[in-house]
Amino acid sequence: MIYFDNNATTQVVTEVFDAMTPYLGSLFGNPSSAHSAGLEASKAVTRAREIVADLLGARNSDEIVFTSCGTESDNWAILGALKALPEKDHIITTRVEHEAIRKLCQSLEGQYRVTWIDVDEEGSLDIDALSSELDEKTAVVSVMLANNETGIIFPIAEIGKIIKERSNALFHVDGVTAAGKIPIDLKNTEVDLFSISAHKFYAPKGIGALYIREGLKLPPFLTGAGQENGRRAGTQAVHQIAGLGAAAEYVKDMTPMRKVGELRDRLETTILKSIPNARLNGTRDTTIRLPNTSNISFENTNGEMIMHQLDEVGICVSTGSACHSPDHSASAVLTAMNIPYSYAMGSIRFSLGRHNTDAEVDHVLAVLPEIVNGLRVMAAS
Ligand code: PLP
Repeated sequence: MIYFDNNATTQVVTEVFDAMTPYLGSLFGNPSSAHSAGLEASKAVTRAREIVADLLGARNSDEIVFTSCGTESDNWAILGALKALPEKDHIITTRVEHEAIRKLCQSLEGQYRVTWIDVDEEGSLDIDALSSELDEKTAVVSVMLANNETGIIFPIAEIGKIIKERSNALFHVDGVTAAGKIPIDLKNTEVDLFSISAHKFYAPKGIGALYIREGLKLPPFLTGAGQENGRRAGTQAVHQIAGLGAAAEYVKDMTPMRKVGELRDRLETTILKSIPNARLNGTRDTTIRLPNTSNISFENTNGEMIMHQLDEVGICVSTGSACHSPDHSASAVLTAMNIPYSYAMGSIRFSLGRHNTDAEVDHVLAVLPEIVNGLRVMAAS
């Protein structure tokens, strides 16, 4: 199988698997227990917290709270910020956020004022609009670091400065797609809250974290016992947390991402050159795009059909984001970018990972033109 869908999820690597298994076996203690079995488990949780803090460039490891997934981290950040600032009633976010933010904010409309910031055809955010929408009632601004469908990176350092100069709002960043793919240094930004999800960088599903800036008192999302310093109740999933820690260690070295970028660039440029009426969705500027992601549309085709035909020959890609797959309309991200419908419906996201090879790129380049052409011939007949 050739797996070019690493923004949907990634394979658990051996290093991560091996780090987890002791906590599914003999080291089964509850990290809240005061005896030695508990202390052993607690040590693993502490170690993982330190490694995750290091990956994100946190000031200290207490800024990291483990959650069950990226969605929980995102939901907690927004709902917690609103609860922390009850005198404020305004949320600012973008039209291209993942559903974990977008649908949550849609559900809050009516109760709160929600401002949706647009992107242009290249996928860049209208920062002037964001700046002018800030007011004294803004409780939280939520902007993703990198888009899961296009890989476009938003300038969170610049946005953070604007937010803090012009308001007292909290700044949440969805870092789920970016973590492990580009360097992150939160201590040198104005970010208050930052979400990650382990399954996007070679750890299992069902574990994530929320960075909560030192000094910020975010009301807990789950109430119960005092785990995670009273911030997130529920017995910690030690094996999952150990996996997240090992994965954070695994991706800390960004050197392999250079090779990923080279593979992606060759895949992208060759497709755009060799297949007629193919267009890149989003900027061509690779300095503001994740090195692993290419979202390409093939005019007058159907992305679902391309995906299925690639799947039949052992190649996994995605149309938009995995979460959209049952939905046959153009993705909200491509719609927000004003990609013409005839292109948006034929879009494929290629998202590479650290284990992909030149031979795999060659193979995809060999089979794709015929699939696209075949679909166009079929549509025309
Ligand atoms: N945010 C982004 C940008 C994502 O891509 C995803 C998952 O695809 C999520 C949040 C949700 O993460 P999880 O699957 O861990 O709930």
